[in-house]
Amino acid sequence: MGMEHPKAKTPYSLNSKKVADATKAWLHKRGVTTEQIAELVLFLQQKYYPNLTMEECIHNVEQVLTKREVQNAVLTGIQLDILAEQGMLIPELQDMIANDEGLYGVDEILAFSIVNVYGSIGFTNYGYVDKLKPGILEKLNDKSLGPCNTFLDDIVGAVAASASSRIAHRKQAEREKERGEESLDSER
Ligand code: MG
Repeated sequence: MGMEHPKAKTPYSLNSKKVADATKAWLHKRGVTTEQIAELVLFLQQKYYPNLTMEECIHNVEQVLTKREVQNAVLTGIQLDILAEQGMLIPELQDMIANDEGLYGVDEILAFSIVNVYGSIGFTNYGYVDKLKPGILEKLNDKSLGPCNTFLDDIVGAVAASASSRIAHRKQAEREKERGEESLDSER
């Protein structure tokens, strides 16, 4: 009788590679390159490590972007920015996100889930770049340019702050190793 079986839904299983690739792809689509984030890292860390290279900064940004918590925050934030551009949010939320309402604050909270991975130096660096808004952060904050970056600016600042924190922890571990001490700092 040709009774068709309803198509079984494929059971959900996490594809980490796809999430990692999507994170990079969407940052790019929203106008942010790894190099631009690395420039923020260099800006934050140059005064502490005068020999720090752009390559090291890029490497550390890439490492931060391999963390699941970071990828989840990046994708969630970008998605909310896009929905705000499309006017798809609940009206009251729509107005707050589209206008980057100062008292909203959830964009910062989401960014904290990124810096959280890297400890307290991450918080300090995040607060610092958020206040100064150097480089790409200035561009992302320019409301006259069109796209909604309410979440993205905090996310980019948090990734840079985390990479800076990662560098600080690694440099300390290197110093201790050079002195022949056993480093107690865990791998991040
Ligand atoms: Mg914001």
